[in-house]
Amino acid sequence: MTENEDMAEIRRAVQALCADFPGEYWRDKDRDRAYPAEFVDALTRSGFLAALIPPEYGGSGLKLDAAAVIMEEIQASGCNGASAHAQMYIMNTLLRYGSAEQKQRYLPGIASGELRLQAFGVSEPTSGTDTLSLRTVAVRDGDHYVVNGQKIWTSRAEYSDLMLLLARTTPRDAVAKRTEGLSIFLVDMREAVGKGMTIKPIRTMMNHSTTEVFFDDMRIPASALIGEEGQGFRYILSGMNAERILIASECVGDAKWFIARASDYARERKVFGRAIGQNQGIQFPIARAYAQMRAAELMVHHAAQVYDSGGNPGAEANMAKLLASEASWAAADMCVQTFGGFGFAEEYDVERKFREARLYTVAPISTNLILSYLAEHVLGLPRSY
Ligand SMILES: Cc1cc2nc3c(=O)[nH]c(=O)nc-3n(C[C@H](O)[C@H](O)[C@H](O)COP(=O)(O)OP(=O)(O)OC[C@H]3O[C@@H](n4cnc5c(N)ncnc54)[C@H](O)[C@@H]3O)c2cc1C
Repeated sequence: MTENEDMAEIRRAVQALCADFPGEYWRDKDRDRAYPAEFVDALTRSGFLAALIPPEYGGSGLKLDAAAVIMEEIQASGCNGASAHAQMYIMNTLLRYGSAEQKQRYLPGIASGELRLQAFGVSEPTSGTDTLSLRTVAVRDGDHYVVNGQKIWTSRAEYSDLMLLLARTTPRDAVAKRTEGLSIFLVDMREAVGKGMTIKPIRTMMNHSTTEVFFDDMRIPASALIGEEGQGFRYILSGMNAERILIASECVGDAKWFIARASDYARERKVFGRAIGQNQGIQFPIARAYAQMRAAELMVHHAAQVYDSGGNPGAEANMAKLLASEASWAAADMCVQTFGGFGFAEEYDVERKFREARLYTVAPISTNLILSYLAEHVLGLPRSY
């Protein structure tokens, strides 16, 4: 079987699963801001969320390029992978930098779905994008670390058993390099909630199950540390490339959904006695969104291939995320315009997807920060911050 046939099979399987979760299902969840547990369970049972976990730990050991196809197809089917996408990529840090014992202890459960590793605690209210200024501290105390501080936008924390947490273990002014002194911990939230960890949901414009998490003298075993103390920032950077590529592929899927919906509607909707799609004023924005989506799609697959071949896809992952998030947002805007008033009615799902698509030029990294990365690291322009 060629790789293309493999990919086509993955697409068909994801489409078949998503067909059981139509717009009505997502509208109900959206209205109640409820977690789509049935969808996440179905994805887990199908094994898709374990795509990147090696077979020796119970996953399917697929490449990132195939995982990207899974996430794209979920979005293109009108579903919302944000409810579960982190299960696919957060474990990357554990897989790359965890000890043999940690991997054996957690990865099989993550692969089967028995253990949810869906929460990634990096962002903080005061530091914003400036991760190196984060204030949450973990202080060694015998066989434990004691954690104090706060995270914000920790999505899915209420629906996760484990959290990958970034905290400062050495004061900023005591490290040789500014990227040192931060450490990564795999926190068992089942033991921590109510014992130093408090989770507070944040209501947002779309159904995203995001939260604030507070740490108040939370004691975690020293064995929760991943890799070497002080090297956590470096560890999460490589995982972030996978995250950006997968989220970019979700944006490509969203753009495909908007383009398909807009094209169908433009063919069917008659105004002034003819299909609105006969007007070039309607056709051209759809065609432009399509071209923009295809360009982004090429960059996503290129970035995934660089990642899969063991290269450093820093620039490609960032460009994929930039281009794809802009393509999905442009397609979302085009779709509302094509639908006219009906674009605002819940029953067409356009307004829901429009709200969901808006996130990705901001998170997990905002457009300005990507442009700044490209300017400095690819084009050699002076560092601006
Ligand atoms: C729904 C949602 C879910 C999220 N989920 C998670 C999660 O699970 N885990 C997690 O850790 N984080 C999560 N995040 C956080 C997300 O990654 C951040 O919101 C994002 O990185 C932007 O950071 P900020 O909000 O602190 O913005 P800020 O850093 O305050 O930036 C605000 C604006 O200023 C711009 N800006 C800042 N500095 C510069 C500069 N030097 N030059 C030019 N422009 C600049 C930014 O581009 C941005 O547009 C989530 C966020 C949202 C909204």
